[in-house]
Amino acid sequence: MEFTTAGVVGAGVMGVGVAQNLAQTGHHVVLVDVSDEVLDNARRELRNSLRAYTLFNKGTGADPREIFDKIEFTTDYELLAKADFIVENATEDWAVKQQVYERIDRIVRPDVVFAVNTSAISITRVASVTSRPGRVIGMHFMNPVPMKPMVEVIRGHHTTPETIETARRFLAELGKDCIVVEDVPGFVSNRVLMLTINEAAFLVQDGVAPAQDIDRIFTSCFDHRMGPLETADLIGLDTILKSIEVLYESFNDSKYRPAPLLKKMVAAGLLGRKSGEGFHSYR
Ligand code: NAD
Repeated sequence: MEFTTAGVVGAGVMGVGVAQNLAQTGHHVVLVDVSDEVLDNARRELRNSLRAYTLFNKGTGADPREIFDKIEFTTDYELLAKADFIVENATEDWAVKQQVYERIDRIVRPDVVFAVNTSAISITRVASVTSRPGRVIGMHFMNPVPMKPMVEVIRGHHTTPETIETARRFLAELGKDCIVVEDVPGFVSNRVLMLTINEAAFLVQDGVAPAQDIDRIFTSCFDHRMGPLETADLIGLDTILKSIEVLYESFNDSKYRPAPLLKKMVAAGLLGRKSGEGFHSYR
């Protein structure tokens, strides 16, 4: 194994998924977030997810306790000094990401690659606040991470061919393949997906059809596995809103203006699965 220890920054929906996938494939993980409270929640989420993993594998996969023990939950950024690869999954907010990268750039070995897990933020912009722009790459993981075999990889302006190859080898160790695309806001997946979700939110807002029926049109008529609003609930409506706002600011195009209903739901704390209620209820 080339990447013995991985640093995972951000222990939310994606960070926990990435950490679990890494641990399941035999890696040691340093999982960093801002508070013990967030880390406690991350431990809980991981335990739940490992229960599902055990059921799914009917007891044939790695021991869930061993997987759990491979992850070091911490608020101490300094522990990232031992990482051979970094996957950053902090909140989808430029100010947050900027501060994270300025900080980890001082701690992590200069030869180590930074993978930015983001829905829409420019990889080139992130690279510009580090001293290693050639070693910064976008890694747009899909949710739930351990279940998804494909990753959208984004080549920033400075990303070197060696970094792309390093990223491929890292993903291969996680059992994943990748599709490499260029760095434009939203890349390929979210340029399409965020507009679709936002338009579906306008349909609910305008009373055209309830969320259940909108989703059923996609599942029953198009054979999609999930409708756009169920997908939004899975991603988190706060992340959706931030992503569509990034697209709006980046393109200055009114087609990306967020649906007022989406803003209202986020303000009300209706964030989807992670809060128990979004376009659908999970209570
Ligand atoms: P989330 O809100 O669930 O988690 C974000 C985590 O970052 C939180 O635990 C927060 O405490 C932490 N954080 C904030 N500031 C930090 C700091 N300074 N240092 C360390 N941690 C910090 O969000 P998420 O859904 O896990 O998304 C994380 C990233 O992945 C975002 O950029 C998002 O766009 C992207 N993404 C999300 C999905 C999805 O389906 N949710 C899919 C692909 C990519």
